[in-house]
Amino acid sequence: MSATAKIESLETIVSLAKRRGFIFPSSEIYGGLSSCYDYGPLGSELKRNIKNSWWRSMVTLRDDVVGLDASIIMHPKVWEASGHVSNFSDPLVVCEKCALRVRADHLDQQTDKCPKSETKKHVWGEPRNFNLMFKTHLGPAEDSASVVYLRPETAQGIFVNYLNVIDSTRVKIPFGIAQQGKSFRNEITTRRFTFRTCEFEQMEMEFFCVPETDEEWYQYWRKTRLDWFLSLGVEPERLRLRDHAADELAHYSKACTDIEYLFPFGWSELEGIANRTDFDLKQHALHSGKKIVWRDQVTNQEFVPYVIEPALGTDRALITFLIDAYNEEEIDGNKRVVLKLHPRLAPTKVAVFPLLRKDGHPEKAEEIYRMVREVYAAEYDDSGNIGRRYRRHDEAGTPLCVTIDHQTFEDETVTLRDRDTLEQRRVKVSALLPTIQEQFGF
Ligand code: ATP
Repeated sequence: MSATAKIESLETIVSLAKRRGFIFPSSEIYGGLSSCYDYGPLGSELKRNIKNSWWRSMVTLRDDVVGLDASIIMHPKVWEASGHVSNFSDPLVVCEKCALRVRADHLDQQTDKCPKSETKKHVWGEPRNFNLMFKTHLGPAEDSASVVYLRPETAQGIFVNYLNVIDSTRVKIPFGIAQQGKSFRNEITTRRFTFRTCEFEQMEMEFFCVPETDEEWYQYWRKTRLDWFLSLGVEPERLRLRDHAADELAHYSKACTDIEYLFPFGWSELEGIANRTDFDLKQHALHSGKKIVWRDQVTNQEFVPYVIEPALGTDRALITFLIDAYNEEEIDGNKRVVLKLHPRLAPTKVAVFPLLRKDGHPEKAEEIYRMVREVYAAEYDDSGNIGRRYRRHDEAGTPLCVTIDHQTFEDETVTLRDRDTLEQRRVKVSALLPTIQEQFGF
């Protein structure tokens, strides 16, 4: 049986995201700004958790990868050396009737009718290359000498710091340098919510290895990165690896695989894993005049490392996790919307409720809430009846809810309710944190 998308339309997630405070249109009180979005209280927590999970698996739990946080604005020569000034462009076509601008290689996704043509069909002009880098000026003079770019990828910040990192740390080849941060691309067509925006975050790692071992590491990172999504609960049948054909490869890359997810609009790239060869380091050596090599300490042999790069968009990962976690269920004749987010990603891990807003319940619930939040992101919630509170936290993806009731005062137990199984069990207050830890595994 072939896989189907988790939800039929992206609209389902757009409206949940707005309703629950995950993602808002940017500058909404002014009508919004095309392609720009803001992360709300739950969205900013979810994004932070995704970034932390990536950092944990790519840096903290590894001996061979170190972190970096480079600036967004870099020397303009970086982008000449990397090839972005001359090559980082998409083919743009413009409708000669209505002036609609579309990426030529996305014409098949183009469903709008032309409002200015009798046949309603667009009349596309010749494709021309449109450079995607945002330009601005550094300093008060707006002349050509002050032109700088907002980085279109975080990778180059890593390459230009290669020498700094090997000189200041004890890394030994093979090793990686990882970075998270904003990138900017003046995309021709955005749409599809946060899937493709002009300002977005990336999580990239450049893994430097001995040239002859590149194929082995490329295969290793394809698998490791796919496993990361699986470990965070993404359904295996909605993930696949797609190897690029030779004519799809970027000029610098020897091989590239996309981890694709089955979005409501079809299979699309979630993450790219590329063998960038020694292209970037050699280009920077050429343009900077610096010697950029690895020297083997035993043989004294020098060589330029090859680079394997897993590159993931944080925002794209976030809507993937939201879509994949989305479930509609029927319980006792009522519809329940639940986000079955992995506990590591869930914005709130534990919600604490007093059954009543009197009889000492709020004080006791507050005490337990303060105990829990020292360890897990928690929320105190006393608004509406318990059923409403469960529904709210199901939609927010909160894995566990704790309720303080009359019995709590008799035997020091609380009700622990599981988001996914709906099981409710009584747990001693003194055993609450270890019980949660056992369930989450952290
Ligand atoms: P495309 O060909 O679709 O424009 P790309 O292959 O150039 O994208 P990469 O340069 O490989 O994209 O970027 C690495 C990752 O960064 C992508 O897999 C994606 O998750 C993310 N990404 C790239 N561009 C955008 C964007 N405009 N908005 C959101 N995420 C993006």
